[in-house]
Amino acid sequence: MNEKAIADLKSQVRGDVITPGDKGYDGARKVYNAMIDKRPAVILRCTDVADVIAGVEVANREGLADAIRGGGHSVPGFGTADDALVVDLGRMRGIRVDPASRTVWAEGGCTWGDFNHATYAFGLATTGGIISTTGIAGLTLGGGIGHLTRGFGLSMDNLVSADVVLADGSFVTASDQHNSDLFWALRGGGGNFGVVTSFQYRLHEVKEIVGGVMLFEVEDAAKVMRTYNKYITGAPRELGAFFAWQIAPPLPFIPKDRHGDTFCAMVLCWTGRPEQADKIFAPFRDAARVVAEFVGPMPYPAINSMFDGLVPSGLQHYWKAVFVRDLTEGAIEAHMKFGPKVPAVNSTVHIYPINGAVQDVAPDATAFGHRDAKYATVIAGMWPDPAQNEANIRWVKDYYAALAPHSEKGGYINFAADDDTDRVAANFGRNFDQLRKLKAKYDPDNRFRINQNIMPAP
Ligand SMILES: Cc1cc2nc3c(=O)[nH]c(=O)nc-3n(C[C@H](O)[C@H](O)[C@H](O)COP(=O)(O)OP(=O)(O)OC[C@H]3O[C@@H](n4cnc5c(N)ncnc54)[C@H](O)[C@@H]3O)c2cc1C
Repeated sequence: MNEKAIADLKSQVRGDVITPGDKGYDGARKVYNAMIDKRPAVILRCTDVADVIAGVEVANREGLADAIRGGGHSVPGFGTADDALVVDLGRMRGIRVDPASRTVWAEGGCTWGDFNHATYAFGLATTGGIISTTGIAGLTLGGGIGHLTRGFGLSMDNLVSADVVLADGSFVTASDQHNSDLFWALRGGGGNFGVVTSFQYRLHEVKEIVGGVMLFEVEDAAKVMRTYNKYITGAPRELGAFFAWQIAPPLPFIPKDRHGDTFCAMVLCWTGRPEQADKIFAPFRDAARVVAEFVGPMPYPAINSMFDGLVPSGLQHYWKAVFVRDLTEGAIEAHMKFGPKVPAVNSTVHIYPINGAVQDVAPDATAFGHRDAKYATVIAGMWPDPAQNEANIRWVKDYYAALAPHSEKGGYINFAADDDTDRVAANFGRNFDQLRKLKAKYDPDNRFRINQNIMPAP
């Protein structure tokens, strides 16, 4: 951008305008995944909707792509791009809970930690991610999977409305009543349709939960997976549970001589009556010997920050994802081959259930295209040392290749890598054609293309 355009932008906004050569540029261009090293033309740290509008208009005038940044957790680093204008919402973190209507307005830069903190005070919650530092924006627009999914659906299923700055700089509110086609597309279409400056969600009564993590021997993992697969199909919806591989970190609840060993784990979150928790968890405890466990009553925000220490900002990330209809014996065999080789304490594989309330919503009621799957599986490679990139990426790719024959072609867009472009249609699934038509209506020039991109229909 030339100096005049930068000066114009500065005169229009209250937030910071940061360009190459500015002192804060290197810090401001960083995103959560340290593997991403992009040099945007300008980073606009917005303070309000007016700043967002100004940023989108300037990007239009200057012919720059907009890279929208909410929480900055995108693994492929979509919150930044070379030569783009970054619309960074990280300073827009206002939240207003309305306990009377059980809804909340949360600005586009909030994290799930911000959100859960604010709603917990009212004994209310909605489905969010399992790490507190993830942004609500990217996570919700792609779907939103977490501990409460079986009970309350995806995060986006709880959206009531959204404030959006469109590609031409205009501002609209989208809901079932207003701009309903846009509202449909936002729920599963990722950041393709505009900058969401504020989200309104439905809330549910959730305050204290019983949950935590159980570790089992690797040799018992197939038994644990089979139990999980059978039980989760019809288990009460107040049960959130997912299977994981995990190298034991040096935590006090794990025997010292087992620190650094690889285990399989069940991560549990029961929102029903606390006295029922033992009975509800019994099938897992009976599946195999529990080597160590940290399970008990806790505030809901606590389970959503329990694993934060394993995934600090600044790790190298490479992830792949698949949707799965059932954990077949073939799939279990593939997991047993690659899961025990999980290469780093930060890396994991999670098999999240997306049955229950997710499947109450009609497959074409929102843009999310995979409501017929039972699981969303993520192979999440995360490690600190760039020198280990090749070995870790290889593990993710080999694992993915082994799972692919036992999975749907598509994977959850929020867990997909940036080399997944050949799977874009499959990742968006059954609603892809409609998404392309709506992309042509709302963003015909594909200004919002730094994402799992939906090309406008011709
Ligand atoms: C450690 C970690 C844990 C995770 N855990 C979960 C989990 O439990 N459940 C789950 O479902 N996913 C999870 N994810 C994946 C997560 O959903 C995606 O990484 C998501 O994109 C993060 O959103 P963000 O706002 O932080 O990301 P950003 O990098 O800021 O944005 C990601 C994408 O979203 C779009 N976007 C962001 N903000 C806006 C906005 N305001 N308006 C329009 N578009 C916007 C952008 O186009 C960008 O392409 C996790 C990711 C990480 C790294």
